Amino acid sequence: MPVSAARSASVRSRRWRSARRRGPTASRTGERSSSATPASCRSGKDACHPERLGARSPRRGRETAARTCGGPVSATRDVGGQPVGEHEELREQYDVVVVGGGAAGLAGALTTARALRSTLVVDAGEPRNAPADGVHNYLGREGTGPRELVALGRAEVEAYGGQVVRGTATTAERLEDGGPGAPRFRVGLEDGRSVLARRLLVTTGVEDVLPDLPGLAERWGRDLLHCPFCHGREVADRVVGVLSVNAHGPDQALMWRGWSERVVLLQHTGAAPSAEQAEKLAARGVEVVEGQVAALDVADDAIRGVRLADGRAVAVDALVTMSLAVARGGLLADLGLATAELAMGELVLGEHVPADPTGATSVPGLWVAGNVTAPMAPVLTAASAGMTAGSMITKDLVDDDTAVAVAAHRGALRLGRERVTA
Ligand SMILES: Cc1cc2nc3c(=O)[nH]c(=O)nc-3n(C[C@H](O)[C@H](O)[C@H](O)COP(=O)(O)OP(=O)(O)OC[C@H]3O[C@@H](n4cnc5c(N)ncnc54)[C@H](O)[C@@H]3O)c2cc1C
Repeated sequence: MPVSAARSASVRSRRWRSARRRGPTASRTGERSSSATPASCRSGKDACHPERLGARSPRRGRETAARTCGGPVSATRDVGGQPVGEHEELREQYDVVVVGGGAAGLAGALTTARALRSTLVVDAGEPRNAPADGVHNYLGREGTGPRELVALGRAEVEAYGGQVVRGTATTAERLEDGGPGAPRFRVGLEDGRSVLARRLLVTTGVEDVLPDLPGLAERWGRDLLHCPFCHGREVADRVVGVLSVNAHGPDQALMWRGWSERVVLLQHTGAAPSAEQAEKLAARGVEVVEGQVAALDVADDAIRGVRLADGRAVAVDALVTMSLAVARGGLLADLGLATAELAMGELVLGEHVPADPTGATSVPGLWVAGNVTAPMAPVLTAASAGMTAGSMITKDLVDDDTAVAVAAHRGALRLGRERVTA
């Protein structure tokens, strides 16, 4: 009988079907009321709230606040690059609030911060690839540690006046339509603070649901792998066991054969190869092992092999499997956006939040980017999607500002005409 593996920060091992039925829950970390005290500088001085003074540059606002609030505005950083956020003052309102500070969220925030938009990133600090040693296939930063890459991204966002805080957004609420210029959302944090946002970008990523097998979660991203483009090169000289869990297993084994000459297909709970697949596997020298895997053989913090239910042992240096990538869509559900099943033909890959190619959703003012909408996207693609969403949000805000200006302009003309007539 399968046993759930220990839960790590963002990886769960449990029954796929029950996960699919239940839907994503990772972001629904609390049902706290969003009427919590608005986040603000405790001084209450206007100088601490540049939006009240009509300041257009978030950088300027940030410097002003730093001088007058008597506390550091930006979080200090620890060695791992995680925001500490001991005394992080938040404004009451931002042009853009980004929930999730992985590649997608930070790229979006960099775009809006560079566009002189007051930008807040709220990030729980657990990028999906955190267990891995390095980010691969990321041009210009090949092999950089996952946490180091986001730390670099955070520094870039902050250099343009964006604010990045560690925290979990637990509520998101659509506000009454207040017309041009008005905020459209209120985002609540788990610590009880809340902020208003004219536009909202959600980049909360996915939760990887692993097959049920004791010890899998602990190996995830280290020697339990899923993506040959992320890790194939690193195990090219090793024996790679493909732990098949569906009909895709044989094709997965053939794919990994492109990197390693020694690939073993562990049939486990997956489908037996078709005649055509069996021929291809034989031609490529891929051994097929029938029978269910019951346990991992781990020694000195490394996978050495697997044990089958019938007691046989198979030696491998690394394992490959498929996770079910389930969008962390709790906040979006609160805003009326449901997740949808993501499938490739018959094969269910996970759940995502549908959006148009720019990340725009059916909720006005709400964008999504990265794995939450495209669970198969690698880091570079997630960053690119974040930038696209940030650009579209900026354009939307420019249009909104123009609508405010036009209304004021018309009002001034009307007043002028009334004075002439009087
Ligand atoms: C083990 C592993 C290794 C990988 N290696 C590679 C690789 O080498 N190269 C590659 O290109 N791709 C790799 N990937 C894929 C890569 O992880 C994703 O492409 C990337 O993480 C997607 O970025 P994202 O910004 O969409 O999501 P994430 O990076 O997952 O970021 C989402 C962020 O949102 C935060 N968050 C979630 N909910 C909330 C909330 N309610 N409030 C506040 N914050 C929240 C999370 O803590 C996290 O920091 C790997 C994936 C895995 C699983």
